[in-house]
Amino acid sequence: MNSQFVAGMDYRGLVAKHGSPLLVLDKAAVRHQYRALAAALPGVRLHYALKPLPHMGVVETLKEEGAAFDLATNGEVDLMREAGIAPNECIHTHPIKRDGDIRHALEYGCQVFVFDNPVELDKFVAYRDQARLLLRVSFPNPETKVDLSKKFGCTPEAVLPLLRDAKAKGIQVIGLSFHVGSQVPNAKRHVEAIEACNDLLRQAAAEGLDLAVLDIGGGFPVAYQGEALDIEAFCAPIRAALANTPAGTRLLAEPGRFISAPAMTSISSVMGKAERFGRTWYYLDDGLYGSYSGQLFDHITYPKMAPYAQGELHPSVLAGPTCDSIDVIAEDILLPELAVGDLVVGGMMGAYTWASATEFNFFRKANILVVDSEPAALQAVA
Ligand SMILES: *Cc1c(COP(=O)(O)O)cnc(C)c1O
Repeated sequence: MNSQFVAGMDYRGLVAKHGSPLLVLDKAAVRHQYRALAAALPGVRLHYALKPLPHMGVVETLKEEGAAFDLATNGEVDLMREAGIAPNECIHTHPIKRDGDIRHALEYGCQVFVFDNPVELDKFVAYRDQARLLLRVSFPNPETKVDLSKKFGCTPEAVLPLLRDAKAKGIQVIGLSFHVGSQVPNAKRHVEAIEACNDLLRQAAAEGLDLAVLDIGGGFPVAYQGEALDIEAFCAPIRAALANTPAGTRLLAEPGRFISAPAMTSISSVMGKAERFGRTWYYLDDGLYGSYSGQLFDHITYPKMAPYAQGELHPSVLAGPTCDSIDVIAEDILLPELAVGDLVVGGMMGAYTWASATEFNFFRKANILVVDSEPAALQAVA
């Protein structure tokens, strides 16, 4: 076993008690990740982006840690309200909103929104006494697997004209934001974006358009295979770039994956098996339409193991439960012989997994069991 799996988890006991398929969310891992990133980015207020795992277990843990939040939809507003999160700890970062979405967030008390174009700006004329805006700038990033700069963000050249337009309309723009893409391989794009924003903040100030905030978005990666990622080293160049941000600028970040990915473990069971074309096929009760959905939508291969199986390794296939042929988790994986009922465990399955799972073929989404592995041994708390 390696660091991709939470140590000391009694998979058999958990499934016996809570059923299969199961997702085990460890609050201790959420805390650990939040503290590690907070230490690596001193002076940067961390707003957990709810999208990768919008679950109360994560929200409660981060609330105890004093974190802030990044929401983007009405459902996420409702989750914040239900968790009793102070609305002034939230920013609404969806660049494209319906009027009703803006009102829903304002009614809750969240007043900071993101825009990136003139049509979106005009939606705030009616709310200019309450709303404050961040302008999202796009810095395309062909290197990342999920390039979010294509879909959202204005060009750097459009920033000053949009700021002038907002001022003319009496709408308060308080800062700039960007999102360089998810699971980035290194901090290069963050650094380039921060440097470009530093210039833009100075140009704006020179025109009397003072901005108080720079939001550096998410994208902080985790290691799905191999060695754990050194977030302190990853963030060193980001810290250096932020040292050149105009003095007094408030700094925010919107980490999602980094906080939630290592915090959840998938446990599924073999429903049946068959020999086909020289390989043993194992049909699990969770698959690509369920907890492993991120393999399609998020382009991630999760570390997998059969924790109790022993013996010679055979070329095997791990398939999901649905009747669709695309529902295959691993085409060629070496595994010991498994029996019906044996368990298969997936590690690092907290981000963009359960959140994007479907109930195709009426296979229910896996239940999330919230546990806290610290300080004592694994204890179910919900
Ligand atoms: C998805 C998203 C995030 C989180 O990105 P990660 O790569 O998971 O850290 C942050 N901000 C915005 C606006 C997003 O859409």
